[in-house]
Amino acid sequence: MNFEDYNTLLVQSIGNKIGSTAPVITPSASFGYKDALQAENIFAGVEKLPLYARVGNPTNAKLESIVTKIENGFSSIATSSGMGAISMVLSAILGANDEVLCIGGFFGGTYTLVGETLKRFGVKSSFCQVDDFKHIEKKLNSNIKIVLLESVGNPGLRLPDIKKIADLCRTYETILVIDNTATPLLIQPLDMGADIVVHSSTKNMSGHSASLGGVAVFREVNAQSDKLLNPKYQDLHGIVEKAKKAAFVAICKKRALRDIGMSANAFGSFLTLLGLETLGLRVERINKSVASIVRVLEEKFPKDIVVNHPSLSKSEDFEIYKEFFSDGCGPIFTIDCKTQERAFRFADSLKLATLTANIGDNRTLALHMKSTIYRDFDEKSRQFLGITDGLIRVSVGLENPNDIINDFLGASHV
Ligand SMILES: *Cc1c(COP(=O)(O)O)cnc(C)c1O
Repeated sequence: MNFEDYNTLLVQSIGNKIGSTAPVITPSASFGYKDALQAENIFAGVEKLPLYARVGNPTNAKLESIVTKIENGFSSIATSSGMGAISMVLSAILGANDEVLCIGGFFGGTYTLVGETLKRFGVKSSFCQVDDFKHIEKKLNSNIKIVLLESVGNPGLRLPDIKKIADLCRTYETILVIDNTATPLLIQPLDMGADIVVHSSTKNMSGHSASLGGVAVFREVNAQSDKLLNPKYQDLHGIVEKAKKAAFVAICKKRALRDIGMSANAFGSFLTLLGLETLGLRVERINKSVASIVRVLEEKFPKDIVVNHPSLSKSEDFEIYKEFFSDGCGPIFTIDCKTQERAFRFADSLKLATLTANIGDNRTLALHMKSTIYRDFDEKSRQFLGITDGLIRVSVGLENPNDIINDFLGASHV
């Protein structure tokens, strides 16, 4: 699908043709059943009606159906935040002594979820660079249960070879989870071989910075020959047998959402749906702006300020960028000012960009990384994630790209 197709799909499917043209908000926490038999059938999953809002709500269901379409998936679960989606998936599949392999750069919350929080529950993990295939194959060979990566490492901007990693995960029958927060519509990880896609809908999907949310999207499960039938997933086999094609949703609902409750709320999902209507327009414009902005800044910045983006031919991931990200790799680029002192001067001289810890907003955003999101990280972790002393992350918005360029050029001369 191209952006034009998404523009049609999104505005035509989010609202309603008859009655309320905007999406309907159903804020009810519980739902009355007609009689005892209907109650039994709803709990048994025979009758598909709302049971209780912790495990599903009609407004969330609308959001889930739209995100399933744009990711070419089979089904989705909306969650309270992007971290909610990631923790739902990981806690539903992993237990004590299971291991997850994390490839490439990660959002700070994901890094600490795996490295600190899940560790307290006995989940083991290792991290490696996007191209460390020696480590990747060694780990896949040792019966790990999940491979986790971000489509575009944030903020290091390394691009994993998703196709190659997905092929390895198919060979070794290991679940591949991809965080596609930075690149909705730009790539479809499920089509490339991922099993589960997670999003922070707080970012590009809503765009307006008014709604915290997340979504996990699942592929269809083949109950006869799925990788989930590998003996290492023994504790999931009962659910696969019962839920068949919908096994991933059942696994996440029965082993995480029901018991931990990272559920989305109807009003939040409504706000996300309003943002989603214009996702195609915004993603196309912002990715065009990013490509032209980084080209001009690379040419015009003073020599000691470096702009990083995979679309620049000097980038070590330029080939992967051209092959898989023909329409762009999301709203982010970075500026390395070398020292924290220079980066602070740069950030404080920006007039247009908002200094905040968000990405994928309609507005252009900027933030010094080391002193904020990564301040609690040790030097080794920061080095692994590409967080240098003077690194500023920029998320490009909808403004006139010339205004954005002028803002950054102005700050570079201070
Ligand atoms: C922001 C972000 C998250 C976490 O999402 P929240 O909605 O803030 O919980 C996860 N992954 C990536 C890549 C993000 O940018």
